[in-house]
Amino acid sequence: MIYHDRRIENTFGLEAVAANYLEYCSEDELLREIPLAPKPWLHVGGGSNLLFATKRCEGTVFHNAMNAVEVIRRDEESVTVKAGGGVVWDFFVQWCVGRGYYGAENLSLIPGEVGAAAVQNIGAYGAEAKDIIESVETLDTETLQKRVFRRDECRYGYRSSFFKGGEGRRFFILSVVFSLSLKPVYNLSYGSLKDIPHQSLSLAAVREKVIATREAKLPAPEHIGSAGSFFMNPVVSRSKFEELAAGYPDMPHYPAAGDMVKLSAGWMIDRCGLKGYRLGGAGVYDKQALVLVNNGGATAEEVLSLAAEVIERVKDRFGVELRPEVQIIKNG
Ligand SMILES: Cc1cc2nc3c(=O)[nH]c(=O)nc-3n(C[C@H](O)[C@H](O)[C@H](O)COP(=O)(O)OP(=O)(O)OC[C@H]3O[C@@H](n4cnc5c(N)ncnc54)[C@H](O)[C@@H]3O)c2cc1C
Repeated sequence: MIYHDRRIENTFGLEAVAANYLEYCSEDELLREIPLAPKPWLHVGGGSNLLFATKRCEGTVFHNAMNAVEVIRRDEESVTVKAGGGVVWDFFVQWCVGRGYYGAENLSLIPGEVGAAAVQNIGAYGAEAKDIIESVETLDTETLQKRVFRRDECRYGYRSSFFKGGEGRRFFILSVVFSLSLKPVYNLSYGSLKDIPHQSLSLAAVREKVIATREAKLPAPEHIGSAGSFFMNPVVSRSKFEELAAGYPDMPHYPAAGDMVKLSAGWMIDRCGLKGYRLGGAGVYDKQALVLVNNGGATAEEVLSLAAEVIERVKDRFGVELRPEVQIIKNG
């Protein structure tokens, strides 16, 4: 179904309209409509990782509304579930938890949809979407052929995948196939999850704990506009980390691939005294410095100026350049 001049949902709460908004409920519908869709093209999910720097997107904005979830295989140990790209992510997690399927529970309450989860390789509380993704079913919008990517072909990294940039953007995600365990396997390595008493450990208890922890420190999109973490946690060389650690012995750090070290962007922003800082309607969230928020009536320009100021202050103090995790949409 194609709509004209339709508002694009986005959790920052910024004004954005699509000249043409194509919402498809099946692969056939997408195939039928795509040759008629004016370019440029942008595929959106729930708009929870997007910052609209333009009030109007010309061309076509696509949205996947395929929202079925079904078990396609099952053996004694595991179950294989296929979910449409338009399924709300947290509905999928709740669905798995309710049926006793292990693997998605640490990713409870992350906003957005299943298709985007496979683009972003969403992660939280020691888990990432790639840990449970088996394959990703796409439409190649150049050849109009369906293509299935096995997990190892998706080039997953920290909040990244083949689909996130460059050539990968021509593949629209139709549905995602997940492999979940039927045997209890918990990932309780993250702080607050360690507090769940052993005797009350269950999938539902993990989900509840994750939700409670998230609600205590992250803004709920229905009350305060944001796109979650605005910046990626920077990954630096070991020598750079050692240089920083000499001046900041309490600096949080985590091992990363290839003897690199991952730092906490939120901690560095906080150390610059920016928690709660405001610039017009935009601000650094007072409970979590990694999150930039719309305190009411913020414009995209204000959010972008604030982001630039944060990047500059962190660079001046730590010599580390933060990069946005949020995708900035400039299509005008
Ligand atoms: C309060 C809050 C908390 C958050 N917490 C976390 C967190 O803990 N961990 C985390 O990883 N993220 C977090 N996020 C970020 C966000 O929830 C994720 O990035 C999410 O996956 C975005 O989903 P979406 O459906 O809203 O996608 P969008 O923001 O609409 O799009 C994201 C990207 O996916 C692409 N895309 C979307 N659907 C498709 C498709 N079907 N085919 C091809 N491309 C597609 C878009 O083009 C874009 O590049 C948080 C956001 C908020 C607002």
